[in-house]
Amino acid sequence: MKSRTIYLDHAATTPVRPAVLEAMLPYFTEAYGNPSSMHRPGRGASVALQKARQTLADLLGARPSEIVFTGCGTESDNAALHGIALARRAATGANRILTTAIEHKAVLQTAEELCDRCGFTLTLLPVDGEGRVSIDALERELTMPKEVALVSIMAANNEVGTVEPISDLGILCREAGVPFHTDAVQAGGKLELAVSRLPVDAMSLGAHKFYGPKGVGLLYLRAGTPFQPFMTGGSHEGGRRAGTENVPLIVGMAKALELAEAERVTEGVRLRALRDRLIGGVLERVNGAALTGSATWRLDNHVSFVIDHADAESMLIALDLAGVAASSGSACASGANRPSHVLDALGIAPARAAGALRFSLGAATSADEIDFLLDELPRIVGRVRE
Ligand code: PLP
Repeated sequence: MKSRTIYLDHAATTPVRPAVLEAMLPYFTEAYGNPSSMHRPGRGASVALQKARQTLADLLGARPSEIVFTGCGTESDNAALHGIALARRAATGANRILTTAIEHKAVLQTAEELCDRCGFTLTLLPVDGEGRVSIDALERELTMPKEVALVSIMAANNEVGTVEPISDLGILCREAGVPFHTDAVQAGGKLELAVSRLPVDAMSLGAHKFYGPKGVGLLYLRAGTPFQPFMTGGSHEGGRRAGTENVPLIVGMAKALELAEAERVTEGVRLRALRDRLIGGVLERVNGAALTGSATWRLDNHVSFVIDHADAESMLIALDLAGVAASSGSACASGANRPSHVLDALGIAPARAAGALRFSLGAATSADEIDFLLDELPRIVGRVRE
């Protein structure tokens, strides 16, 4: 067991499935045409692109024309915020952006940039101690809907795994006539995301969180949503995102979501059992450990704690030496040595937030791995505390 890595950082990224790699390979070498070219190799690539778009649209309950391919989840978030906020302001004069204090920096920092550079004003909706966004707070902020350019609220949080009440929040936005974007990067392949039922106007996904390749994502953009292109210089993606489409990676993303959706429910049940075994075991064996986020509204594969009087970095190094790959929370925040804005928003004091650990489970995670971790962690915490 010790010789191989026990990978418990699937919220940071996942391995590409063999079937996904196989689906992509021909588009690097044999079918390498530019989908915009008129000749036969170009037409071949264009057919693959159309097929992938159709597959993704079917899986998400969308129309193919509502799918915009991007370079990653971060780009999808950037495109949604810039594209919708600027277009709606141009059309209506609305100048406020509403989001939450626990968004990924891809949303938070982008919203801040829109304030600094383009004169928008930003309101951060509060969350409760479990990281759930207040529906009442959104309702209060929507009393003057004509002022609001965009609401952006994540489907599930990357650091604490909390699943947000996206349907209820989206209904409020729809009633108010305000565009609603959700960052569903952590939810892709894990939560039901059919936009035929979800009241969202825009949704961001990134393939590498559901066993697809890195460097590709998509933005679902409901027909009729105001949108100004974020990347210019070509008429690709219906004029909404210029740049030659990355055909192999897009083909891989479609295959990955197809496989993830096919097993989403059964895999969810399996992971939930492992998740709860890990949560229960740590709370029982590690004194001073507390679950962060919600026990109920939680991603099936997500476990996060704060551990008193133990520094996250030291624990992560010791875990790595024991063969366990974990994280303190956001891959982007780790190493930055700054207290997490998410834990802060949940009301967790910086001293406790310094002991944040995240274990995110995945397809290869077994009960043996969880039991190994449950044996190791109390020892590791003890040593770090010394
Ligand atoms: N949004 C959330 C909630 C995330 O967890 C991440 C990545 O961890 C991103 C956005 C950024 O996605 P990407 O790594 O594809 O740029």
